[in-house]
Amino acid sequence: MTNAAFKLICSGCGATYDPPRLHCDGCEGLLRSQYSTRAFHPRSQSNLFSFQDWLPPSCSSDVPIGSAVYPSQGLADHLGLSNLSIGFSGYAPAVGALNPTGSFKDFEAIPSLLYYREHGVEALVLASAGNTARAFAYAATQLAFPVIIVVPERALERLWIPCEPSEAVRLVVLEGCDDYARAIQIASLIGQTLEIQNEGGARNVARRDGMSTAMLEYAKQMGALPSHYFQAVGSGTGAIATWEASQRLLAAGIGAVLPALHLSQNAPFTPIHDAWTLGSPISPDTDVAGQLRRIDQIDALVLANRMPPYAIPGGVREALMSTGGHTYAVTNEQARAAAKLFEQTEGLVIGPAAAVSTAALLQAIQTRRISPEDSILLHITGNNESLIQRDSRLHRILPVWSVRPESVTLEAIREAAYRLLSSS
Ligand SMILES: [Zn+2]
Repeated sequence: MTNAAFKLICSGCGATYDPPRLHCDGCEGLLRSQYSTRAFHPRSQSNLFSFQDWLPPSCSSDVPIGSAVYPSQGLADHLGLSNLSIGFSGYAPAVGALNPTGSFKDFEAIPSLLYYREHGVEALVLASAGNTARAFAYAATQLAFPVIIVVPERALERLWIPCEPSEAVRLVVLEGCDDYARAIQIASLIGQTLEIQNEGGARNVARRDGMSTAMLEYAKQMGALPSHYFQAVGSGTGAIATWEASQRLLAAGIGAVLPALHLSQNAPFTPIHDAWTLGSPISPDTDVAGQLRRIDQIDALVLANRMPPYAIPGGVREALMSTGGHTYAVTNEQARAAAKLFEQTEGLVIGPAAAVSTAALLQAIQTRRISPEDSILLHITGNNESLIQRDSRLHRILPVWSVRPESVTLEAIREAAYRLLSSS
C-alpha cells in the first residue's frame, strides 16, 4: 500500500509527478511533497509518525524517533530570552529524546526506507559524512532493508549503532579520503553501475519531510510558529525541510509569518554563509585542495558538504530569501564555548554541530538580530554518544569494501558487487 494522498510538485516549474522520483524532467528544481490533507491534526503516536498526514510513507514504525521540544530554563535565563524553546533531536531520556543513533538523521532514515519499500525499491545506496550513516545503518537493520553506505575514511571512527548491524548494512569506506563530496560521487557511480536506487539526499522528500517534524513538533506543543529558527547546516536539507514545514503550517492556519531561518556553519569551512553574505555561487570544483584544508580544521565534520543544494529552485538560498533569514560563521572556539554554556545551563552535552547552532544564537543576540522576547526554536540536532553508551552497547559497523577513491572504477565496482549486494 502507498500513500495515495500525496504527490510530488516541482519547486521550479510546478510540474507534478507520482512518487518516488528525485528529479524534475523540465528543470533543476527540488521536488516537494504535496499532501491532500491540508489541516494540521497530529495523531496520538509519541514518535514523529504523529505527523503521518505529512509524511510520504503510509505505514509507520515504533522506533522512538522525533524531536523533544521544551521551553528552555537555564539557557534562556542566562541569555535573557523570555521565549526560547529547545528542539532536542539527539538521545537524552531526561528530556524525552530517544533517537537511537543520537541525531536528527534518525528522522530521515526510517521514513525513507518505509517510503522506498512501499514503492517497490529493494535496496538503496547513499553517501554520508557520519551521522546519516549511523541512522541508515540502524534503520536498515531494524527494517531488514539493504543499504549500501559510502563514507570517507575520516567518518569511520563515528560509525557505531546501538544494536548488532545486520547483513542489510553494506559499508564502503573511502581510504585516505576526508571528502563527503567524493563519497556522494562514488555512491552515485555504484548505484548506476549496479542499478541500485540512489537514496537522493536533499532530493529525497521522505528525508526532508522526516526532518521537517522538528518544526511540526514545535507547532504541536505551542500551537504557533516561532519567529526564529536556529540550526547548523551542512547541505542545508534540514533548513529546507523546516521552511517547507512552516509553509504547510501557515497554510493550515498555524502562525502568521514564516520563521526566519538562522543557519550556521563551522569556520573556516562556510560555503553557504559565504555564498549568502557575498552573493557568490558555491563552486565545489574551485580550489578543492583549499576547501579540503579548511574542512580538516573544523570540529563539526558533519557540516562539511561542498555541494549543498543552494541556488536551485526550492533550495537553501530561496529558503533564506523567503524567510528573511541569516547565516553565521562560527569558529571552533566559539562552538566549544557555546557547548560548555549549554551543558552548564541545560545539563546536557551536545554535539559539535549543535554547538555551532548555539553559538549562532549568541551571535544573533550580540548583533541584535533577535529581541529578548521573540519566540525562538534552537534546534539541537544531535549530541555525542555518552548517554547512548550509558544505556546501550554500541556496535561498530565494519566495512565490506575499503578502497581508495581513485581505484573505484566501473570494473572495480562490478568486481565488488558480491560484497555490496546483500543477501538479506
Ligand atoms: Zn521543474
